[in-house]
Amino acid sequence: MDEQKSNCEENDSEPTECVQACALCNCVERSLHGQRELRHFGPFSEWLALKPSASPLPQPGNDDLSSIGFSNSPCLAALFDASVCWVHHWCAVWSEGVKLMENEKLENVDKAVISGTQRLCEYCKRLGATIQCHAEGCSRFYHFPCSAASGSFQSMKQLFLLCPEHINKAEELGEEAWCAVCDSAGELTDLLFCTGCGQHYHAACLEIGATPIQRAGWQCPECKVCQTCKPGEDSKMLVCDACDKGYHTFCLQPAMDSLPSDPWKCRRCRVCTECGVRGLVLPGSAQWFDNYAVCETCQQHRSSTCGVCSKPANPSVALQCCSMCH
Ligand SMILES: [Zn+2]
Ligand SMILES: [Zn+2]
Ligand SMILES: [Zn+2]
Ligand SMILES: [Zn+2]
Ligand SMILES: [Zn+2]
Ligand SMILES: [Zn+2]
Ligand SMILES: [Zn+2]
Ligand SMILES: [Zn+2]
Repeated sequence: MDEQKSNCEENDSEPTECVQACALCNCVERSLHGQRELRHFGPFSEWLALKPSASPLPQPGNDDLSSIGFSNSPCLAALFDASVCWVHHWCAVWSEGVKLMENEKLENVDKAVISGTQRLCEYCKRLGATIQCHAEGCSRFYHFPCSAASGSFQSMKQLFLLCPEHINKAEELGEEAWCAVCDSAGELTDLLFCTGCGQHYHAACLEIGATPIQRAGWQCPECKVCQTCKPGEDSKMLVCDACDKGYHTFCLQPAMDSLPSDPWKCRRCRVCTECGVRGLVLPGSAQWFDNYAVCETCQQHRSSTCGVCSKPANPSVALQCCSMCH
């Protein structure tokens, strides 16, 4: 994650000012949603005349799926700063109207960015959506991370998407809509799309879930790389129990010496269900409880209050026999 920082001034007080984000999904390059690298497009001559933007772009989105895209239409002059725009490779390539040319050159990315400023995503209901369902007459648009999160079918060979309602059309694609494990189409809504190789896998065939955070940026067992250093050795890779993303034990902060035997959760997925605190480690070396779902403070509070009447329990009495409600 320090790569992102290295082209910035090391100034913690203004962390967002120099971080480049995608003009479609509004995430930075390092993202858990599998959009690939951030590419710059342009300069586009028609945007040279734009005056510097008076309204700056909003803060980039984060690992949270609810922060993809834009809540208000972003200012074009800010998106085309110096007539150049930045878009993730996958966000651009799947966009309606964008053409993939030889040597990975893309055409019409600027047009996609402009149309995205007016288009809501079917999944997150925010602006910047440019990937349209391929079914005739369907007007649903998605951000790239949201297309996977929504459970749409994605074809990597043909670069198109079928929304959940039109997913049955995928059967006509034959082998493309095929699970790499059981070698059949099976339940199409259960297929996960690998953002690395484009193959599909049934969640059930891999014995994992198919929640939105698992689907977004999902990588198959063969393609799974560390989210911190990306390529690298695949030994000592921890896989998050909640989002199925991989992390090296030695890339974590603090690093771990060995693979834990219990289910493990990543930084993003450790959230206290009581107070909302999150993080790989808690302040003051506090511990996580309940499979990283309750922080130590709330756990202590829990164990000192009765689970039925929420009144403080008599510390000398065991929890199951609270004196107030029994
Ligand atoms: Zn993007
Ligand atoms: Zn979206
Ligand atoms: Zn559709
Ligand atoms: Zn299968
Ligand atoms: Zn793969
Ligand atoms: Zn790593
Ligand atoms: Zn996770
Ligand atoms: Zn808590």
